[in-house]
Amino acid sequence: MDYDVKDMSLADQGKLKIEWAEATMPVLRLIRKRFEREQPFKGIRATACLHVTTETANLMKTLKAGGADVRLCASNPLSTQDDVAAALVRHEGIPTFAVKGEDNKTYYQHIESAIAHKPHLSMDDGADVVSHLHSKRKDLLRNVIGGTEETTTGVIRLRSMAEKKVLKFPVISVNDADTKHMFDNRYGTGQSTMDGIVRATNRLVCGSTLVVAGYGWCGRGIATRARGMGANVIVTEIDPLKGLEAVMDGFRVMPMDEAAPLGDFFVTVTGNLKVIRGEHFAAMKDGAIVCNSGHFNVELDIPALEKLSKKKLAVRSGVDQYTLKNGRRVSLLGEGRLVNLATAEGHPSSVMDMSFANQALGAEYIVKNYKKLEKKVYPVPADIDKEISRLKLAGMGVSIDKLTKEQVKYLASWEMGT
Ligand code: NAD
Ligand code: SAH
Repeated sequence: MDYDVKDMSLADQGKLKIEWAEATMPVLRLIRKRFEREQPFKGIRATACLHVTTETANLMKTLKAGGADVRLCASNPLSTQDDVAAALVRHEGIPTFAVKGEDNKTYYQHIESAIAHKPHLSMDDGADVVSHLHSKRKDLLRNVIGGTEETTTGVIRLRSMAEKKVLKFPVISVNDADTKHMFDNRYGTGQSTMDGIVRATNRLVCGSTLVVAGYGWCGRGIATRARGMGANVIVTEIDPLKGLEAVMDGFRVMPMDEAAPLGDFFVTVTGNLKVIRGEHFAAMKDGAIVCNSGHFNVELDIPALEKLSKKKLAVRSGVDQYTLKNGRRVSLLGEGRLVNLATAEGHPSSVMDMSFANQALGAEYIVKNYKKLEKKVYPVPADIDKEISRLKLAGMGVSIDKLTKEQVKYLASWEMGT
């Protein structure tokens, strides 16, 4: 079998971790059972480019159980869990191409290896496989029946491709499902980002000032968790509605120019580029800690930070301390890549259960319906989304009320007034 992982001796440890995650993924487990019976992916070759984590491993097992010939590569050079990659190869027989810390060239070689089996389906987190197929490997496009996309930024790119009529197959936007972004982006990113900051720095959060750039789904999750840990949270935004929401949620809101000298910690989650720039780094306090949990490593203007600095020192694992020419020190976490995956382990499995249930059912939907679909970005069908929330609640042992007949009638009527 073709693969490239760091160290096969880590496989047994990886297997235990995959099983640990599986314990809190009841929805995916149910889907896997059905897939085993129904074999919806029989004869289907799928390439997945996702963070190689314990949660992704459970999704890969689910696709394989459904009959797919699946290959996996990393969607980020720093997020791979090397023991999980080894376990996927040894214990699951899934060709995996991912090594934590791989350079850019290896990253793209790994994408090449993962598409070498000529996929019918693509499964992306950031649209890297779709981009690669549309730019460098157009020869493989004719085999592809469709794809799925995990994250906000990937969906933005795919919509732009569809609008420009360059997208060559339909893609399901997993991120747009309510059972994805309302939970994964908000609670998952909220917890795992704070986890990444704490693991990397071992600094006390309470009593500090933490600046969050962007108050979308991810930003409000981080701001809320940071406040829960006792931080004074400042939010920066460019959208007046989101800024207003942050104010009403009780956060201080101001431009980055004003926040830069105040923060002890800075986190960007905007999906935009150069949100923290040279002038902001120059204004920061001595000891400020900066990281990104949003987009690729471009949300922070790292070249500007390098230019302002006279010294760079790796002071802890995942922490580069820059000494600026003004004498102050600014520490960058996880090389400016997603801090929750670079210095922690990403979102916990319980929340990825819903994201990856959407991935599995979105892929099944493509296989069943691709002939009817246009070369566009489609949401996850609403009935699938609803069913995932029902199954998740059931998996958590929570029941809710049912409408009475009288209530159903009342809600559909207009005659009854005050
Ligand atoms: P979103 O669209 O809900 O929120 C982004 C917010 O950033 C918006 O409110 C926007 O107005 C704001 N913004 C844009 N430019 C800004 C700027 N210059 N300064 C301040 N605010 C600005 O998106 P989201 O779902 O919160 O996702 C944000 C990013 O996080 C995306 O890149 C997404 O792919 C990524 N993401 C990361 C994780 C993770 O595991 N770390 C999880 C989910 C999503
Ligand atoms: N690929 C880009 C884009 C953002 S990744 C990059 O790496 O820079 C953000 C996505 O990571 C989220 O949508 C979330 O669903 C996913 N994610 C978070 N924790 C994860 C985990 N434990 N396993 C797999 N994917 C995870």
